[in-house]
Amino acid sequence: MLFGLLALTPAPTGGRAPAARASASAASPGAATASAEPHAAAGGSALEREDGTVWELIEAEGRRQRDGLELIASENFASAAVREALGSVMTNKYSEGLPGARYYGGNEHVDALERLCQARALELFGLDPDEWGVNVQPYSGSPANFAAFTALLEPHDRIMGLDLPSGGHLTHGYYNERRRVSATSIYFESLPYEVSAETGLIDYDGLEERARLFRPKLLIAGASAYPRDWDYARMRRIADSVGALLMNDMAHAHISGLVAAEQAADPFEHCDVVTSTTHKSLRGPRAGVIFYRKRFESAVNFAVFPCLQGGPHNHQIAALAVALREAQQPAFREYIRRVKANAKALAAALVARGYTIVTGGTDNHLVLWDLRPQRLTGSKLEKLAEAVGITLNKNAVRGDVSAATPGGVRIGTPALTTRGFGEADFVRVAEYLHEAVELALALQQRSGTKLKDFVAEMEAEPAVADLRERVRAFATEFPMP
Ligand code: PLP
Repeated sequence: MLFGLLALTPAPTGGRAPAARASASAASPGAATASAEPHAAAGGSALEREDGTVWELIEAEGRRQRDGLELIASENFASAAVREALGSVMTNKYSEGLPGARYYGGNEHVDALERLCQARALELFGLDPDEWGVNVQPYSGSPANFAAFTALLEPHDRIMGLDLPSGGHLTHGYYNERRRVSATSIYFESLPYEVSAETGLIDYDGLEERARLFRPKLLIAGASAYPRDWDYARMRRIADSVGALLMNDMAHAHISGLVAAEQAADPFEHCDVVTSTTHKSLRGPRAGVIFYRKRFESAVNFAVFPCLQGGPHNHQIAALAVALREAQQPAFREYIRRVKANAKALAAALVARGYTIVTGGTDNHLVLWDLRPQRLTGSKLEKLAEAVGITLNKNAVRGDVSAATPGGVRIGTPALTTRGFGEADFVRVAEYLHEAVELALALQQRSGTKLKDFVAEMEAEPAVADLRERVRAFATEFPMP
């Protein structure tokens, strides 16, 4: 198995990657100190000696990340400092409870760390500690959301979030005609709102209409695949008109980094609770946070522990504290500006090639690409892209009939911007994507529409290896953090 995997993974180029482009250091503090040998420092010889199998897998993953074009909108490359904190002795410590009120001894340093992390989180988003608090213990975005629901709702209370096929997230209450899929729709009663089939924009009028009839207790703003900004003021008015609370999940509008850099609308002005992941545009470790207005403090903290979680993952909290400090630097603001400019350049380059981009463009870090006019599914492009070293994900676009074969893909710019990619580089990325589509269409013509046959055809196609090599040569011009 391991040998198979290693055989598929091209060996390191045998030397250092070409020097970082001048733009890289401005875009990302981490990129300036990039190593061409991913994990060489962090992997360490102890792991190599103790468990060569795991060490090799980590090395192989590092090479995959370095050699390819990472376009998954929810991913990023955390700095070496963040990864060092993540691999620290903080992972050894139990600390159930909150700073100053723990169920275990020996927490003086963990208390200081968690307080520091909380203070940095509030400071980053410009929040007054008399009005807002933050819980930094959620293990990730989904647990943060469920903790927020547990804090704000009684079982079977009603919620409304953006429908999954409209770009919403599972945790916002997804169910389909066969079953309740998300635990949120099992333990609460959920009715989604949608984007307009014509424009791809949130249908606020439709949302208002449904809210008037459904009378939810909680309205959720936020999405996984929505390329435009949110009208929180309008959502607040709708929430108030039916007596609902308003929560924003800013994880995957992926805008946590954008909001922090004041390059997206500010949800804090209008919302009662704001949850987020920390590993997307914010470029931290995988974790979650819940910001709450002070009146919800005890409910939120109690929901996280003891309701849903045990001991906090202190190594994550340490790494998050590091990432929050990085995000306070002027270079991060510049990074986010470039993330957005790059997404616009990528969308424009695809439109110039005649492709259909949902809503016609983007205001944030992601582009939702509708492939139905090409008669290609998102699943096929995802497979072909993976084979040539471009990582992206299939994504439903409004009007899709089957969730299993969605009509689009979602692409994002945060990860490659961290590596120093600029707008011209993203135009080149668009060219590679265009080549991938052309190749996929030619293969589909021979294989027919079944994914299994398509993959078999793809594996035998020499043009795939050729494109993969050109993608690798391009990607390795840029440093990794
Ligand atoms: N909320 C939104 C909007 C997301 O897009 C995601 C994940 O992509 C999550 C929550 C869940 O985060 P996690 O995968 O860390 O549980």
